[in-house]
Amino acid sequence: MLTDAQKTACMGFYPFEGDDGDYRILEDKVVVGRKDHPCGCGEVARAGDHHRVIKGLFDGDFVTLRWCEGCCVAMTTYYEELVAGEVTKLDARWDKRNPS
Ligand SMILES: [Zn+2]
Repeated sequence: MLTDAQKTACMGFYPFEGDDGDYRILEDKVVVGRKDHPCGCGEVARAGDHHRVIKGLFDGDFVTLRWCEGCCVAMTTYYEELVAGEVTKLDARWDKRNPS
């Protein structure tokens, strides 16, 4: 489970940086999941864990995005790692699933 400080840091990560689509975020919060959901990193966002959920209109479509607790934790240090020139933990999680 995330601490309150981790929740705040996680919410400070903006997932659409550098993406030039049309995004209108309607809801963005950290919740305790009630069911298991797949996460794009390849892990499962488990019931009872914290999940970050963003609901919004993306290029005109209503979409719900959800990240598992491991991704939420990786978000908390994303900008520090980026500034330090490191491969961020978040990118590493997603790259193992989607090698480019
Ligand atoms: Zn994940």
